[in-house]
Amino acid sequence: MEKQSLNKIAFIGAGNMAKSITIGLVNSGVPAKNIIVANPSPEKRLALAKEFGIEQTANNIDAVEFADIIVLSVKPHFIEQVCQDISEKINIKNKLFLSVAAGTTIAQIQSALNAKASVVRTMPNTPSQLGLGMSGLFASKEVNQAEKAAANKLMSAVGEVIWVTSEDKINEITAVAGSGPAYFFLFMEAMQKQAQEFGFTEQESRLLVQQTALGAAQMVEHNPIPISQLRENVTSKGGTTFAALETFRQQGLEQIVANSMQAALTRAQEMA
Ligand code: NAP
Repeated sequence: MEKQSLNKIAFIGAGNMAKSITIGLVNSGVPAKNIIVANPSPEKRLALAKEFGIEQTANNIDAVEFADIIVLSVKPHFIEQVCQDISEKINIKNKLFLSVAAGTTIAQIQSALNAKASVVRTMPNTPSQLGLGMSGLFASKEVNQAEKAAANKLMSAVGEVIWVTSEDKINEITAVAGSGPAYFFLFMEAMQKQAQEFGFTEQESRLLVQQTALGAAQMVEHNPIPISQLRENVTSKGGTTFAALETFRQQGLEQIVANSMQAALTRAQEMA
């Protein structure tokens, strides 16, 4: 059987997500000469090529020809046209497609490619920009073990990954991790506002909240005990933290969180 090489990576679309993944790949040791970015308009493509020393082209087809792994990193409404164009002009046998497009299904991509191509669908989130992303991945049944490992390595360059066993689970990933950073931003905004009410400046309030959130997240990462245990460890009965947490409880915080995440899931399902 022909040995499949999965070394060369093409990004179709030179936007935010392509940049985040490129940073991660180059930092993790993938040679810049093995990466190409395609984007019809020059500005972002040339900037990416200059910053990271990667190859660039205005022509998507040239990039697909060059690569083994094609990262579809255009906005969802461009996916169909981009894939149709590829399928009309090039043999895509032995190529792995990895789509980061929100709400675009594997069936839609395969239909536009006019082939039962190997497609991995992934839902990353914005902290991928810092290498702190959380991505859910799902593989079409055509994807083999080597391709799965390559997709895993690629998305691991921008953070943590988990694989889901059915495509609709990508919607749940969206409701938890895709939209999740904004949930924490809202909570941090509310805390910052109240810190300002207490008399701290905007800058001081931001620092107080930012460092507290960072510290709490790092404690969760570094202590493999239940999060509830971490909370209990810092809550003495009758103390200040206890007073705050009781207020959260009485006012239904847990239910608000559950309802909000359910609303995100429903919306993701509607958009799929
Ligand atoms: P973006 O910054 O707008 O990047 C999209 C790029 O695609 C732009 O540079 C655009 O060029 C280019 N483009 C447009 N038409 C093209 C074509 N026909 N061929 C090649 N390139 C083309 O968007 P993004 O934030 O990176 O998002 C890209 C995908 O990632 C989306 O599908 C989104 O759902 C998904 N995603 C993003 C995030 C995130 O955190 N950003 C998170 C989860 C999923 P011009 O600007 O010159 O038109």
